[in-house]
Amino acid sequence: MEKQVYIRIQEIDRAKCDYCGECSKFCEYNALFVVRPKDGIKGDVLSFPQLCHGCGGCTIVCPRDAITEQNRGI
Ligand code: SF4
Ligand code: SF4
Repeated sequence: MEKQVYIRIQEIDRAKCDYCGECSKFCEYNALFVVRPKDGIKGDVLSFPQLCHGCGGCTIVCPRDAITEQNRGI
């Protein structure tokens, strides 16, 4: 019998994100890395789903409500 399993993927709404870094500071597993904007270089939030343990903390601590979690089947 086969059973579908999922991993959680963080999606960042870059229109809301101000690259404050709170999500990556919270994540114990280094599954998020925030590139702060500097000297004309755009900021970004890089996510590494293979490191995520699905605790949901980053979604809670984000002060701008910029993170949503999606299921991705594996
Ligand atoms: S906590 Fe939210 S606003 Fe701050 S960098 Fe992460 S996603 Fe962006
Ligand atoms: S859900 Fe938890 S483990 Fe996954 S990226 Fe967010 S804080 Fe890190």
